[in-house]
Amino acid sequence: MIEKEAMYKLTYGLFMLTTTDGQKQNGCIVNTVSMLTDNPKRIVVFVNKANYSEELLKKTGVFNVSVLTESAPFEIFKQFGFQSGRDTDKFAGGRYEVSANGLYYLPEYANAVLSAKVIDHYDYDTHTLFVAEVTEAKKLNDEKSVTYEYYQSNIKPKPQAAKSEEKSGKGKWVCKICGYVYEGDELPADFTCPWCKHPAEDFERVK
Ligand code: FE
Repeated sequence: MIEKEAMYKLTYGLFMLTTTDGQKQNGCIVNTVSMLTDNPKRIVVFVNKANYSEELLKKTGVFNVSVLTESAPFEIFKQFGFQSGRDTDKFAGGRYEVSANGLYYLPEYANAVLSAKVIDHYDYDTHTLFVAEVTEAKKLNDEKSVTYEYYQSNIKPKPQAAKSEEKSGKGKWVCKICGYVYEGDELPADFTCPWCKHPAEDFERVK
C-alpha cells in the first residue's frame, strides 16, 4: 500500500521560477529545485503542467530560480502561486531585478538567484521534469532558505483564521496545501483547488 502520510514526510524548499514569453515576464512558485551534477553545474526542476511557466519553459528554455527565504510573506506565495500568468502580469507593481539573461528575479525575500538553460525535458503525466545547465549563480544574502514545512507552519494563514472571517452556517472545506476555502456542505469529488490545483482529497472539513 502507499500511505499518503508517508509521502508527506519528504522535504521540499520553495522557489520562485521566472520565465518569459519573449515579451512579458512570468513567475511561479515551485517546491522542487535540486542540484543534479556539480561539474558542470546542472539542476533539475519539476513543473506542474497547469502552470503557464511549464509551457514557457518548453518554448524558450531559459529561467531564473530565486531561492526564497523565511522572511517571504504570504502575499508573495499568493501573488505568484495562486493566479495564472496567462491572464495577469504578476510583476505589476512589484520589486524585481534583472539578471544577465534578461529575466527577472526577486531581490527581496530570496537569498540566491540561479540562472539556467534547459538541456532536456521529460514528460510525466501531470508534470514536466526539466534538466538545466546553470549559467550564472549569485548569492544575495545569508538569510535562511524557507522550507515547505516552515511555510506550512509559519507563513500560510491558519484555517481557523479563514473560518472566523464569516459565519454563514454553511459547511466549509479548506485546502490543506494553500488555505483556499470552499463553501458548501459537500465538496465535489472531482473538485480541484482553484489556487494550487490540488485535488479534493487534499481538502479537510472546517469544524
Ligand atoms: Fe489549494
